[in-house]
Amino acid sequence: MSQKQMSNIAEDVKTVLEFYQALGFEKLPIKIKQKYKSAEARKAELRGPALVSEDMKADTYMLSAKATTVTHISMPEKTAALKALQEEIGDCKRCKLSKGRTNLVFGEGNADAEIMFIGEGPGREEDLKGRPFVGDAGQLLTKLIEKMGFKRESVYIGNIVKCRPPLNRDPEDDEINACGSFIRRQVEIISPKAIIALGRISAQTLIGSKITISKLRGRFYKYCDIALMPTFHPAYLLRNPKDKWLVWEDVQKVLELLKK
Ligand code: URA
Repeated sequence: MSQKQMSNIAEDVKTVLEFYQALGFEKLPIKIKQKYKSAEARKAELRGPALVSEDMKADTYMLSAKATTVTHISMPEKTAALKALQEEIGDCKRCKLSKGRTNLVFGEGNADAEIMFIGEGPGREEDLKGRPFVGDAGQLLTKLIEKMGFKRESVYIGNIVKCRPPLNRDPEDDEINACGSFIRRQVEIISPKAIIALGRISAQTLIGSKITISKLRGRFYKYCDIALMPTFHPAYLLRNPKDKWLVWEDVQKVLELLKK
């Protein structure tokens, strides 16, 4: 190997290391064995087990993945459709979460986004500001989005429930079901190429499963006929930074998919 090739490799390694450092990784996400995946295996991964696995079928929420025909509409039409949906939600009183909220958090971003991030529900900061993912977890999400090569405003960020559950408890089934059609309609309007479900509640709700996020993450499912990748919630990563590399692996798969 020539001196030049060696110095190119060293430069590449340096770039990768700096990248992981910037994301706050404490250990390198090195895989001992990277098995070669055939095109067929990759397609099977995309199809995912979510809609066939018996244990998943047994435990479905009312809001489960439905295949819909997505009609392609222009960006101004999508923007208008989202605005109309927000107006329809209005000063929502469809569930008990409305009683404790300061602001309803509809979601924000590019109406024509390639990629949509869906969290669980607003926390304290989000409730105060009426915007999704603006607290500590939101800062980490923004960092992840940027490391993926996007600007925060070029993606769309939403939540399963639009109002803050008291003391940040998990949203309950009746609350998820009261709000569920809204995230589905946001997805249908935006019609992204991929969805990243952040955390257990989002993943389980959209996939229609009660399987743990550790088991769900890392492979594709379908929601409204759109590829959905479950991964850990940024708030979990703040408590468990050593798992950041798993999220990085998951989003790499999404980036690969977007290239196709
Ligand atoms: N956690 C979420 O799931 N969503 C937000 O908007 C903020 C924190």
